[in-house]
Amino acid sequence: MPGTAWKCYRCNLSFRSEETARMHRQISSHSVTKVRAIEA
Ligand SMILES: [Zn+2]
Repeated sequence: MPGTAWKCYRCNLSFRSEETARMHRQISSHSVTKVRAIEA
């Protein structure tokens, strides 16, 4: 979905795909928040 991204505030990383975000959450046990992407 365009305009959507996932962000890990602990790493200050953002992910363009939900799959990547989910993987990061599983690997690191960080919480990843769905956010609106400001730019492509
Ligand atoms: Zn993280």
